[in-house]
Order: sequence, then structure tokens, then C-alpha cells
Amino acid sequence: MTCTCATGCPSSTIQRNYLWAPQAELRYRTGWYGPWGVHPAMSTFALDPTFASQLDNMISYLNNEFSVWNLAIDWIGSAGTYVDCDNYPYHSTARAFDLTAIALTGVSSFLIDSNQSWQDSIVHKRRYLSMICAARMFFGSGGVLGAGFPGHQNHIHIDNWHSLNTLNLGSISDRGILRQILNCYENPLVNIDGSAVWNYVDEYFLNSLLTKIKMNCTHPTSSIWNTLGFLHLIVKHGVANQSAGFYTGNC
Ligand SMILES: [Zn+2]
Repeated sequence: MTCTCATGCPSSTIQRNYLWAPQAELRYRTGWYGPWGVHPAMSTFALDPTFASQLDNMISYLNNEFSVWNLAIDWIGSAGTYVDCDNYPYHSTARAFDLTAIALTGVSSFLIDSNQSWQDSIVHKRRYLSMICAARMFFGSGGVLGAGFPGHQNHIHIDNWHSLNTLNLGSISDRGILRQILNCYENPLVNIDGSAVWNYVDEYFLNSLLTKIKMNCTHPTSSIWNTLGFLHLIVKHGVANQSAGFYTGNC
């Protein structure tokens, strides 16, 4: 591979048409059917090998949670991974993945769409959140950019340039994720935009949610373990399509 880009080059790439297991095939988003993405066929994407294995772990985790409810990941949509000489080093080094959809099969079929689900009915919002929270469990602040981040209303950008860390109220991407959680489980009027600074209203609703799910003694911004425990519970609520408190921590 010849690459002379100032933004960086991939050290190596592998070609993948699935994540985690061949049953979870990758599909390229080719267009739109109304607000929903069109993903007609299995597609092959170039990925950095380490990044690919991290994505595999994320999909494996998510599939395991859905399997509790007799659902399985059928295919995964993407708008792209490697972009030669992209302005951002993430895509120019194949260490980024633009997630557009996850389709589920099993007792019923269900489509989580990165453009539509976050603004659709509550079950769609909850499952979109499960998808984005699972991503945040495996990648750090700034490595997961979704609907609450400017320019990411129709795909979730995931990259591994940021090491795994605690939820950070100073991060625009983490504020967007946290506000989506509050919008979905506490008050639908909470604006999911992560651009504004974290304020006392956000903190009020976060504390209310933490009390309901019995995690009020393990604030998610206080340690990496609390972050992971909190996000794991949000993933489980979304997969199950249940209100806050269906699953609880130990406080
Ligand atoms: Zn991207």
C-alpha cells in the first residue's frame, strides 16, 4: 500500500466482511429509504487489525446481551472505515468505523438505524442507546461520536485513538451520550446536544436516574469500573426495552 498522506497511513490493514462472527455480516449503506438507511448486500471493509478485534469484542458483547431475549445480530451497517488521505487521522489509518445500523433477527426482526432510531419511538431510542453505550464501553471519550455530537446525526463514528477511560463531563461526546440516556430514561425534554456545558439540571436528572437503578453510590464519572457498570446497565435496559430500575446495581 502506497500512502504519503500528511494525516497518517495505516501500518497494515485486513479485509473484513463481518464483525465477531461470520453470521454478523458487514453491509455498506448505499442510500436511503425515507429516513432509514439502505444496506443491500454484504460488503468488505479495510480495518486496522487491532481495531478490528476491538470491534469484534464490542459486537460479541452486544450480541450476548441480545441473546438473553432470543435475538441475534444479523448484520451490521457501515458508511465506511478506511479513507485514503482523509482529513482526520482516524479514517486515514483504518482505525475508525462509521456505524450506520445493526439488524437483529430471532423471535422477531428489528433494525437499529443510526439516522432514525435516536429520534423514533422509545424502543428505538433505547436500543440506539444500547448500541452507542456498548461502543462507549469499549472505546474512550471522544472515540464514540453519535447523535448528540455535531455532524453525527446519521452515523456513529467509532475510533480507537482514545484509550478506555471514565465518562468525562468535560467531553462533548460523553455529554451527548449522557444526555441521550437522560432523555430516554428520565425526561424526554433533555436536549441531547453535547455542545453545552454540563449543568445542574443535567446533574439533577443523572442523580435521579442513578437512584432508580441503585447506582447512586457509584457515580459513573468517578472511576472506570463505575463507568462500565453504569453503561452495562443502560445497555441491558435498552436491549430489554424496560424503564429505569428494571435492572439495578448494589447501592
Ligand atoms: Zn467517521
